[in-house]
Amino acid sequence: QCRIFCPTGAISIRHNRGEVWEALSDPDTRVVAQVAPAVRVAVGDAFGLPKGRSVMGKIVNVLHRMGFDEVYDTTFGADLTIMEESAEFLERVQSGEKLPLLTSCCPAWVKFVGEHYPEFEENVSTCRSPQGMLSAVVKEYFRDPANSGGKKTVMVSIMPCTAKKMEANRPNSYTKGEKDTDFVLTTTELIDMIKTTGIDFAELEPESSDIPFGFGSGGGVIFGVTGGVTEAVIRRLAPDHAKETFQEIAECGVRQEGFIREFSIPYNGTEIRICVVSGLANARTVMEQVKSGEKEYHLIEIMACRRGCIMGGGQPRLAGKRTKAARTAGIYRADSVSVIKKCDENPMVASLYEGFLKGKEHELLHNHSFCAK
Ligand code: SF4
Repeated sequence: QCRIFCPTGAISIRHNRGEVWEALSDPDTRVVAQVAPAVRVAVGDAFGLPKGRSVMGKIVNVLHRMGFDEVYDTTFGADLTIMEESAEFLERVQSGEKLPLLTSCCPAWVKFVGEHYPEFEENVSTCRSPQGMLSAVVKEYFRDPANSGGKKTVMVSIMPCTAKKMEANRPNSYTKGEKDTDFVLTTTELIDMIKTTGIDFAELEPESSDIPFGFGSGGGVIFGVTGGVTEAVIRRLAPDHAKETFQEIAECGVRQEGFIREFSIPYNGTEIRICVVSGLANARTVMEQVKSGEKEYHLIEIMACRRGCIMGGGQPRLAGKRTKAARTAGIYRADSVSVIKKCDENPMVASLYEGFLKGKEHELLHNHSFCAK
């Protein structure tokens, strides 16, 4: 078994390609994939396509050819995360408790809090990550005999991140005693698997993801870059969906240069102070300032990898300045062409909340104890 090392220092963990091939060859198993936002802008150049181009449609096609029964989009999970996290944020702002809210979608950062700042564990959002939410929802959906067709479901998540393998094994990543995400493949593992098939990836026609969990908003796509979670939360809090509003949000400071971005936005008479951080050394700087009382924020978004998931430890490694810029631009381009920009305007999200998710929100979408444990 081959082992790889996470450059964030979060974990040493093994490849999962063998187990996934095995599941794909079992006729009694439904194999479901979810594909994270950052993956789609890092696969194309391994097959001679321009750097940073979003190739989500080709990834869906190749996964279907490889035998995946359903291919869903983690941006749907990101939409669920924003629905829950923005509600949690507003509750905390109103009560003035457990502020600043610390984001929870990066498992390497959450592990870092548990190890170095345990006094802030309560500040970490109780929301599961987009991977965690989508896997829990998919597994619950196929637990229903009306949807399962008598097959066992194996959930495979394709991530830019080696730490997501660790997240999938945490006790909080189980529902009804069953693991939500069975296997995590990194982007580089996916590229290796595609190469093994001999399929000419560059020539594939794009295909759409499957329903009912294959469609996310532009706000879900930008989770792939630092500041994306925060920008999606601000969009959710915005009262309208005018182009000018989205432009104003993009220019509020959330997309400024740098690994520590501070800015504030007005909301219902309160000036909301926000900090967006990428890189764990920068996270330490900010947490020390918060601990000493030198800085005060309402919301801190932290991603362990500098520039966010587009530069995750599971992405192809040779990424110079041009590649980094191209991946960032690719994510923002994918957002610009999204018809729906806000999670609450995603009709599939709305129908999920009105349908089988009703009454199960806490069980499927939240961690029941500090999420690094
Ligand atoms: Fe994983 Fe890095 Fe993204 Fe955190 S920032 S979720 S460690 S890829």
